[in-house]
Parts: sequence; C-alpha cells; structure tokens
Amino acid sequence: MTVLKDRFERTIDYMRISVTDRCNLRCIYCMPVGGLPPIEHKEILRYEEIAQIISTAARVGVKKIRITGGEPLVRRNIPHLVKLIREIGCIRDVSLTTNGILLERYADALAEAGLNRINVSLDSLRPDRYREITRGGDLKAVFRGLQAAEKAGLNPVKINMVPIRGVNDDEISDFSRMTLGSPYQVRFIEFMPFGLRETWATEKFIPSEEIRSVAEKIGTLRPVVMKKAGPARYFKYGGAAGVLGFISPLSNHFCGECNRLRLTADGKLRPCLFSETEIDIRSALRSGASDAEIERLIRLSIEVKPEGHNMQIGNTKIRSFREQTRQMSKIGG
Ligand code: SAM
Repeated sequence: MTVLKDRFERTIDYMRISVTDRCNLRCIYCMPVGGLPPIEHKEILRYEEIAQIISTAARVGVKKIRITGGEPLVRRNIPHLVKLIREIGCIRDVSLTTNGILLERYADALAEAGLNRINVSLDSLRPDRYREITRGGDLKAVFRGLQAAEKAGLNPVKINMVPIRGVNDDEISDFSRMTLGSPYQVRFIEFMPFGLRETWATEKFIPSEEIRSVAEKIGTLRPVVMKKAGPARYFKYGGAAGVLGFISPLSNHFCGECNRLRLTADGKLRPCLFSETEIDIRSALRSGASDAEIERLIRLSIEVKPEGHNMQIGNTKIRSFREQTRQMSKIGG
C-alpha cells in the first residue's frame, strides 16, 4: 500500500475537491451580497480532468475524497462525478459537503452513484434567521434534504454549524438537543478569521471550550471514540441517538495531524487552506502532461505543505483577519 508523507511525517491521504466556485446562497460571513466574480467556465476542471488527477493521487496514496465548493450541487450531474471517482481503485471513501438546499433532489442519485457520506452546513434552525444568515435560503428545503439523505442511506448525516457570537450563539443548545432523538452528528466549527472581512471581529469568535460548556448545560457529555474522527472531538449525552463534535481550528489547531490536500475548481493544488501557495495542475493537464508529470506536481504540493497556520489562539489573541486572494467559496471549504 502506497503511503504519502510530507516533510513533517504527516500522512497525506485525503483530497478535498472544489467542483465549482458558484453558490446558491450568500452566507454573510462567506460571500458578498452580489456574489464574487465567477471563475470563467473554460477555467473550471472538467469531470474527466478531476478523475485523472484523482487517479494519479490515488496511486501515490490518496484514499479519501470530499467534494465541495462553492455549492457542489449547483454543478450539473454531480452523481456522474461520484461514479467516476468510485471507479478509481484505492479510493475508499467519497463524501460531499453541501448547504442542503438541493439535497432532496439529488440524495438518491448520489447514494446510487456510490457516495458514502454527506455533511450539511446549517447555521440556524430558525427560518427567519436562516434566511438572514444565508441571504435568502429556505430552511424547509434543508430539512427535506436532511430527511432525503437519511432515507437514501447517506448515514451518519453530519450537520456542521459555525457559532458566531451575537449572530446564532443562542442556538447552540437547540443544535445540541437535535442529537438526543436523531442519529445526526452535529459538529460545531470555530469561526475563522477568513472569508469576508466585514463580518469578522475577534469578539465574534467562540472557542470550542465555551461552546461545549453551553452544550453541557443540557446534560453530561461523555467522550466518544469514533473510527473516522478527523479533526473533530466527539461527545454524547447519555442515551442520545446522535453525537456532538467540536472542531477547533484556532483554539486547538490540528495542523500536526493535517492529512489533506485541496484541489480548487480551476485546477490548482492547494496544500493548506490558510496558505496562498498553489500549484497549477490544470495547465499541465491541458498541455498534455504525462501521468509522471502530474504525479510530480502532486508530490511537489505535498513537499511545500506548511507545518501549520499561525493563527491559533491559546493565551494569544488571533493576530488579524487573514486576507486571502481567494475566498473560502473559491478554495473549497
Ligand atoms: N456550499 C457548501 C456548504 O455550504 O457546505 C460547501 C462550501 S462552504 C464554503 C463550506 C463550509 O465552510 C461551510 O460549512 C461554512 O460554514 C464554512 N465556512 C465558510 N467560512 C467560514 C469561516 N470564516 N469560519 C468557519 N467556517 C467557515
């Protein structure tokens, strides 16, 4: 079995692939009201190109793929891409991150194509507030999507919530309670100084520890050991059907265990979400590069993967908002 290690002895076996920079929502912390200038159609990787990159990555040790965006379900025929990825030997796990708006329509086809799991981003359980945060999203559509995903067998369904002080932090308890009767994995992700500058303020950041202390008011949380925990730490209320997860990119950063590589919709390999370093693999592909050359570029992106980001807050304050040339929707969250 091939194992791909970086300079810091981290095993790199996970690739997150952004299939589009377009999104059907305009979340207040992610995108400006009018959206971002779209990447030109001809610059976006075709499914066959994505599959070719994954085939080579799989040969050198990548085993897990996550499809993301933008909103992946706005791109035509995503189940076809899932099928292409599934046909690649060595890929053991294919998952997708979505806002859930179009999930009801695609859940069955995704499951039939071989998708293993789904993550749904959801920052409020109140219809009005959801509409405000997403600038127009319909919460009912997300709930229908969650039900369709469960029915299609895309379990366990993970719900990712970003608590932001003064915006939705009063819903931490409601989200936690969802795990009492439903088998969801509700995961709280720390708000990062990334995305839209105008929405970020240090005071809006809530560390995982504080989020957990709010969740603990409902009942005692016991640690749960999960097989595929990734960067999340999991807990469960006694007798609950689901689990709660805490993802702490800032207060307890997990760069030391980072196993990922990102591929942007326009074909750039990005070794770290927080670093601007990118390797252009699309130009190589389109100028007829051999598999050996594609492999060299993948290995190069692993070689330049930084040891970590420098934004953690322990006793130290977050340095500042991280200005990026690309927004989250253009990298793939
Ligand atoms: N459209 C898909 C979705 O909604 O899941 C995939 C792309 S979206 C950019 C991926 C995730 O990034 C969402 O869960 C969103 O909450 C998260 N995200 C965006 N900006 C963030 C920030 N500043 N801090 C924490 N999470 C952020």
